[in-house]
Amino acid sequence: MTDQQILITRSSMPLYEEYCAEIRDLWDSHWLTNCGVKHRHLEKELQEYLGVRNVSLFVNGHAALECAFQAMGLGDDGRTEVITTPFTFASTTNAIVRCGLTPVFCDIKSDDFTIDPEKIKPLITDKTCAIVPVHVYGNVCDVEAIQGIADEYGLKVIYDAAHAFGVRVNDVGVARFGDASMFSFHATKVFNTIEGGAVCYTDDGLHEKLSQWRNFGISGPEDVEYIGCNAKMNEFCAAMGICNLRHVDEELSKRETVFLRYLENLSDAKGITLPSLQKGTKPNYAYFPIVINPDAFGATRDDVFAALGKCNIGARKYFYPLINDFECYRQRFNEGSTPVARQAAARVLTLPMYADLAFDDVDAICSIILKKS
Ligand SMILES: *Cc1c(COP(=O)(O)O)cnc(C)c1O
Repeated sequence: MTDQQILITRSSMPLYEEYCAEIRDLWDSHWLTNCGVKHRHLEKELQEYLGVRNVSLFVNGHAALECAFQAMGLGDDGRTEVITTPFTFASTTNAIVRCGLTPVFCDIKSDDFTIDPEKIKPLITDKTCAIVPVHVYGNVCDVEAIQGIADEYGLKVIYDAAHAFGVRVNDVGVARFGDASMFSFHATKVFNTIEGGAVCYTDDGLHEKLSQWRNFGISGPEDVEYIGCNAKMNEFCAAMGICNLRHVDEELSKRETVFLRYLENLSDAKGITLPSLQKGTKPNYAYFPIVINPDAFGATRDDVFAALGKCNIGARKYFYPLINDFECYRQRFNEGSTPVARQAAARVLTLPMYADLAFDDVDAICSIILKKS
């Protein structure tokens, strides 16, 4: 262990030479954005990797989510309520509200932090149009139960799969669930295009609509059909994605070894709940969240967070606070009715996690944590 700072994550990058070789032909074509060669190439590679028919790329995951809601026509028939959870990144709820929709917060399960299907039905009204669950930390939601409810009530299901790139359930890619899934390719995610994102979807008809929504709504040389935004992925980002995708499986295996090292170090700690792997699921080891029960452990999450901070180790209270406690959402929507999420937000801490995190560093982080008990 050095005295160097350990950040919560470290972006995956290809070798400099590999990236330079990938972008070389952009100097011949001078085609920098607007669905160029790199964009089309990455889209195709991702169809294969994720095992889906339809992938549309975006400038980032957030814009992808907004465009998905718009292209799918959420709210167009007057039903404007969307059932989601407050235990997520601000983006999920912001996208819902920015599209003129109303978030209805459903509680989560304490074991994997994903939406609790048993609590969805009581929230459904004649205004509900969709469910937007989040595969938190790469934990896969109860996709069967959610789909059952959606089918019964005629609701769309759009997954925030920002954390779940590369996850498979019984050998089915996670992008195959629901009507659509949004992935984030932000620099901090398991697979990155610097900034970037994608929507995967079942309805082939969405392809053209999504292309228009991310390009100002332009429908032809002389007309604009939708009030769209500019959310196109550029060629340099797509090239980064093409390179990173070549190495992503290797990165996932390295993450697994870091994950196991944490488990080894912390498995005997009383009062710490470690991430548990889901049955039949091939995980992506995107995060290492621990839940600290202050009574059993002898110190609070905030104590541990502070102790790590003092040693220059960047753990993260992810997700704290809950979305409904943010200034822009306080006193709005159905806050306060999600006790499981509230307790998780008070107790969870994600530890540094990336492919090249050294075992020595993992050991040092764990010994600081254990000393607090
Ligand atoms: C990262 C993230 C997003 C947003 O993705 P960007 O690519 O950063 O726009 C949305 N939801 C969740 C859960 C995320 O972690």
